[in-house]
Amino acid sequence: MENCLFCKIASGIIPSNKVYENEYVLAFHDIAPQAPVHILVIPKVHLDSMNDVNSETSVYAVKCLEAIAEIAKMQNLENGYRVINNCGEDGGQTVKHLHFHILGGKKLSEQMV
Ligand code: 5GP
Ligand code: ZN
Repeated sequence: MENCLFCKIASGIIPSNKVYENEYVLAFHDIAPQAPVHILVIPKVHLDSMNDVNSETSVYAVKCLEAIAEIAKMQNLENGYRVINNCGEDGGQTVKHLHFHILGGKKLSEQMV
């Protein structure tokens, strides 16, 4: 996707503060962290959102989840963390490339879920 910010980050055209990478996913620090640990996990292929996850693409979602568990260990989040996916307008998604937020490093607010 030519004009997708996260595709540009995945391909290295736009730099990121990389945390983890494998064949399927890239993880990097969020540019505007909302917790002491705030990492974004993205598939290396372009999927608009969770709505694009289906039997053909779900391997990328699963690889993101596997990476999240790995990253949580690397970041010493043994006390817990939150995984968030914002989907679409009502979900508050601002970057239209599937991504998961990992938030942790402190006791998070219980106001939303
Ligand atoms: P969303 O609101 O779509 O769920 O999350 C998008 C996230 O991407 C936001 O938390 C925002 O701070 C982060 N973000 C936006 N642009 C950039 C960027 O250029 N680099 C990095 N590392 N994060 C970004
Ligand atoms: Zn993209």
